[in-house]
Amino acid sequence: MKVLKFGGTSVGSAQRMQDVAKLITGDRNIVVLSAMSGTTNSLVEIFDYLYKKNPDGANEIINKLAQKYYGHIEDLYATADYKQKAKEHVNSIFDYIRTFTKDLFTLFEERIVLAQGELLSTGMMNLYLQECGVNSVLLPALDYMRTDKNAEPDPVYIKEKLNALLTAHAEADLYITQGYICRNAYGEVDNLQRGGSDYTASLIGAAISSDEIQIWTDIDGIHNNDPRIVEKTAPVRQLHFEEAAELAYFGAKILHPTCILPAKLNNIPVRLLNTMEPEAPGTLISNETEKGKIKAVAAKDNITAIKIKSGRMLLATGFLRKVFEIFENYQTPIDMVTTSEVGVSVTIDNKRRLDEIVDDLKKYGTVTVDDDMTIVCVVGDLEWDNVGFEASIVSAMKEVPVRMISYGGSNYNVSLLVKASNKKKALQALSSHLFNN
Ligand code: ADP
Ligand code: ASP
Ligand code: MG
Repeated sequence: MKVLKFGGTSVGSAQRMQDVAKLITGDRNIVVLSAMSGTTNSLVEIFDYLYKKNPDGANEIINKLAQKYYGHIEDLYATADYKQKAKEHVNSIFDYIRTFTKDLFTLFEERIVLAQGELLSTGMMNLYLQECGVNSVLLPALDYMRTDKNAEPDPVYIKEKLNALLTAHAEADLYITQGYICRNAYGEVDNLQRGGSDYTASLIGAAISSDEIQIWTDIDGIHNNDPRIVEKTAPVRQLHFEEAAELAYFGAKILHPTCILPAKLNNIPVRLLNTMEPEAPGTLISNETEKGKIKAVAAKDNITAIKIKSGRMLLATGFLRKVFEIFENYQTPIDMVTTSEVGVSVTIDNKRRLDEIVDDLKKYGTVTVDDDMTIVCVVGDLEWDNVGFEASIVSAMKEVPVRMISYGGSNYNVSLLVKASNKKKALQALSSHLFNN
């Protein structure tokens, strides 16, 4: 059995849903769907109005969104019977959302509202498949996808509940389920963070030991640089799990950062495919490395660099521990680290506790903060005994001021910290130098 995940654009209109239906019928797989594109953003807008105690503003967005869905229903279904069923499904969800405009609005309600996008899309697809004569079964993610007290997925629970559901519906031709949404350790409706449908797919893949996890999106696989920023990017056909994880973590939007780990731990290949061009080979992510090749570049924004300079670090033991402990105390993960004999620079992407961190660090040295930075990450088979790749990367950056360089943490990446304003220049320079000459 395979897991196939289709993102928002892939199910973004009636036509797209019909195209997806053609791709998924025929094999008994589990299909994970995102909300139709734009829906989750509209839901965010709705609760924004509700937090601001403006129910009229919220109702306006709700009505507009509902109208859009009525249009999709007209286009998607052929028969009056199914149009009616779909309308009942969509109406019940919008009526439910409207109930939240009448009462106190908290984080608890916010998560319920956010969950409605995937409930809409999966319900509609399931009805469409049934109209086409496919015996598809809807697996409610809220019945099996769960996180624990640390907000991490609970693989034992997921495996047990999901497999029980599959056994109970063994007669199905096909299973449809919601990406992104889950329940937390307290049984409340929650989610796996924006873009988290990819994570749902890999968690399901691990839970059922699937043959393959397919992530279907609007581009022909992972490109060697961000196609939204850089010209002349090209698809990368093969990546190692570690390479893909680095790219996803360091900003390649095509994959959610957490989605590689469950696949890697269970050695399940992940294939990225293009819904608009289903025959294109896409990208295969597996345990195999292509020797000696630089594969791709990605960038992560909103980074803050913090430097602590101290004479006390010279020949001292325990200095780094004290520094790192401060970040730990404020539950702020560190991304990059570089050290010299008299100082250490680190980067963080969460500034929530920055003032307290800086205050505490001042006990140990002089502290400087650089805001609005971007980590540019070069990924590939970068084993230290492969000569030359450091020189190519550094020479590509000869016109760009670089604040930090980090290499040696893994065999798969070199990270460079630049000003956000130089991101495009840095990405373009790396592309021209590493891939296009
Ligand atoms: P989905 O809605 O299917 O989850 P996303 O929008 O999350 O799709 O991801 C696909 C988009 O990721 C592409 O349209 C592309 O603009 C963007 N993207 C960013 N970096 C890369 C990359 N390195 N390779 C391919 N796509 C990328
Ligand atoms: N619908 C959610 C979002 O827009 C989850 C996803 O698409 O992966 O973030
Ligand atoms: Mg996505």
